[in-house]
Amino acid sequence: MTSQDAPAATGRPVSAVDEVVEICRDLLRIDTTNTGDTTTSAGERAAAEYVAAKLAEVGLEPEIRESAPGRTSVVARYEGADRDRGALLVHGHLDVVPADASEWSVDPFGGEIKDGYLWGRGAIDMKDFDAMALAVVRQWRREGRVPPRDLVLAFLADEEAGGRYGAHFMVDNHPELFEGCTEAIGEVGGFSYTVDENLRLYLVETAEKGIEWLRLIARGRPGHGSMVNDDNAITALSEAVARLGRHKFPIAMTDTVRAFLAQVSEALGIEVDLDDPELAIAKLGPIATIIGATVRNTANPTRLEAGYKENVIPSRAVATVDCRTLPGHAEVFEKQLRDVIGPDIDIEYIERQPPLETAFDGPLVEAMSAALLAEDPAARAVPYMLSGGTDAKAFQKLGIRCFGFAPLRLPADLNFGALFHGIDERVPVEGLKFGVRVLDRFLAAS
Ligand SMILES: [Zn+2]
Repeated sequence: MTSQDAPAATGRPVSAVDEVVEICRDLLRIDTTNTGDTTTSAGERAAAEYVAAKLAEVGLEPEIRESAPGRTSVVARYEGADRDRGALLVHGHLDVVPADASEWSVDPFGGEIKDGYLWGRGAIDMKDFDAMALAVVRQWRREGRVPPRDLVLAFLADEEAGGRYGAHFMVDNHPELFEGCTEAIGEVGGFSYTVDENLRLYLVETAEKGIEWLRLIARGRPGHGSMVNDDNAITALSEAVARLGRHKFPIAMTDTVRAFLAQVSEALGIEVDLDDPELAIAKLGPIATIIGATVRNTANPTRLEAGYKENVIPSRAVATVDCRTLPGHAEVFEKQLRDVIGPDIDIEYIERQPPLETAFDGPLVEAMSAALLAEDPAARAVPYMLSGGTDAKAFQKLGIRCFGFAPLRLPADLNFGALFHGIDERVPVEGLKFGVRVLDRFLAAS
């Protein structure tokens, strides 16, 4: 849709369903690549100003905050009917991971619409939901509707690099903007997994693994590369890293994963052995990679650094490991890790963010289920755990109960998991419109 043929020009009032595609496309055309380095990241300021203008246009008062030049987030409060109730936070991030245009079949920042999809970096992670939230709120304001309780809308910088310049900065420095928020919705949940035409599971995120990025450091006796050395730091580190990289931590069931597997078992008519669930998970097709990492702690070596000359044995060698821990496993993991790497390797933490888990119950969950069912009679909402992390980690620090609920109905054959940070990221246009309708119903009932 171009602005020339938008419904406004035809005299019909603009609805959220009309507007969502245009807003999402506008956002995709603002390159907000987050390289992880503030000096080379760009576009967040432009995207934040775009969002703020869309909010201001309908009479909301967006607050813009910058953690560093160009690292911009926007928050607005939409006052509700019952101001004594806790507020609902609706959050999305504005940044995206880099895209290598030579690998894509379209311009990753062109916002092209073809084959029923809107294409571009951020189309599902997560400018789609940013656009849905904006479109719904704008329609409500135009119609003079009032949400049942305060809605706090947050559009954040830097999620893709851990949120230090975005959600964590906002929570640590401007907590007053989130005052009274008791519950939150954001990414990565609410998307469909088709069992058959009569049953689509919508995966609502109720748990996230914890993040433990750490350095393993081996120290040894430096010396000449031509001589005998039985205390070589590189040898010791390599052994520890190889053991850890190949290690399979024991299966451990959390409430969320147990509930998810029970639903899947019933829906697909497959046996799930809770002591060995990986066979069943492998049968889930496109979402197997999303679920597979949620039944155990994991540790993946990601960097190695040691030495500076061919014939010099260095005194130290360092490896970086990306570890992800299940809820309730922080202490157990430390012991497991030590058992695998042995007593002589030092551990330094680079980043630690605790896991989160909430129960799949209560009025908010009922509102999600009802909204999905009203728009898709084959819908069934089920809880699941995300193996990655989101801005929910920051909002958890304020005691907010966080869910991943960015509703999206997907074609059965779409490999949704592969599109996250993937080549040719795209969102179905009908899925966006579906999301708007579900979000509208959900917000009205929450
Ligand atoms: Zn994301």
